[in-house]
Amino acid sequence: MTNLQASRRTVLGATAAAMAFPVFATTPPTTLLRGADTVLTMAGVPLTDTDILVREGQIVAMGRALDAPGATVIDLSGHIVLPGLVDTHWHMWNTAARGLWRSAKGSFAPTMAAISPLFSPSDAAIGVELALAEAVNGGITTVHNWAHNSRSLAHVEAEIAAMLSSGVRGRFAYGYAQDTPPDRPMDLGHLATLARRPPSTLVSLGICARGPDRSETDVWRAEWAVARRLGLPISTHMASDAMAAAKGGIASLAAADGLGPDVQLVHLTAATQREMEVVARRGSPVSISPWTELEVGYGVPPIADMVAAGLTLGLSVDNMVLAGSADIFSVMRLTTDLARGIARDASVVTDEMALRWATVDGARGLGLKAIGTLAPGQRADIIAVRTDAINITPAADPFSLLTHAARPENVALVMIDGVLHKAGGHLLRVNIAQLQERAEQSIKALRARASL
Ligand SMILES: [Zn+2]
Repeated sequence: MTNLQASRRTVLGATAAAMAFPVFATTPPTTLLRGADTVLTMAGVPLTDTDILVREGQIVAMGRALDAPGATVIDLSGHIVLPGLVDTHWHMWNTAARGLWRSAKGSFAPTMAAISPLFSPSDAAIGVELALAEAVNGGITTVHNWAHNSRSLAHVEAEIAAMLSSGVRGRFAYGYAQDTPPDRPMDLGHLATLARRPPSTLVSLGICARGPDRSETDVWRAEWAVARRLGLPISTHMASDAMAAAKGGIASLAAADGLGPDVQLVHLTAATQREMEVVARRGSPVSISPWTELEVGYGVPPIADMVAAGLTLGLSVDNMVLAGSADIFSVMRLTTDLARGIARDASVVTDEMALRWATVDGARGLGLKAIGTLAPGQRADIIAVRTDAINITPAADPFSLLTHAARPENVALVMIDGVLHKAGGHLLRVNIAQLQERAEQSIKALRARASL
């Protein structure tokens, strides 16, 4: 622990001043994760009593009783080991407004409309930092930061800097400001500037657009054209509720060649079976966030129908204003059980399927092939869940334990690209008290200015 704390200070100290984007720079040690009871590789049958050797951020060997002279050895007996969890759609900028979905201004939409124009670059960055710390705590190693309050280049750069300095893997999705009218595109000039210097090997760039449901035809078509010219993936909320679905946006996208593996659709709560089949055929991945889809009144996500349509699914927490906590374990639990309850059939979705959506399928939907499974040659995004806590013992089927018993506090170890971020149940690279203090000051000042 002493060495880790020392290296943390070095990392944070070295990154602060030197460059515009404070890149997370640390050399991952050679680490032997020793003797995990169960390893869910998500690429084959579960392994038992297995070691994983990680060198220079990569898994180089997996097996029993591996020999690794000089490696830092971490004992993982009593743990289930699996790939880091992947969140596929998360508005991180407003994390400090956790739970603020009702106010004197009304419900979610008017409350956020009152407060979002007041966010400074620093407020947005604090939200991202808070979200990333909570992500790591709960075993999420890859995020899709859906920055739909991109108010200026300074806001965008502050959010990207927060991602880079965290060392968490992810995509930054450049977007629009919350109050951008539907007939005005996002600032595409800034997008071209950013695309000329991709952030890092851990953080990539994409766009989040309002699409046919929330912007005019000329606007979304222009945004699609620029993103594709720059080679950037696109994400958009689609058919979120019945009113949005009635606009026929999926057909508009299909007709304009606006779907494909580079275009992620979020929600599809009110999409028809035929529309979901079109989306599946064109290869667009889909992100669902069942907790917020219920809470905001979009409806009940048609999960079994999505499976039947052949969609590539990923899970998400969406935002902390509504969701409250970044707990992908609870998202998996809700996702499986909603599907079973709606279908009145416990077999329509398995626990293993939900874990695939939260790992390998979520990663593939974001275009990431080097993570999401555990195998030699893959990047080392690995988490370990303790199985001796009161809520998760005795151990039974590991997929059921992870989807129906585990909670963020059971995540004992988190490794991203070979670097430890959580060990012994403690976050290693975040000053939590200082971050909480900054977040509290940020939201307090914003609420005062918005008269909330
Ligand atoms: Zn969203």
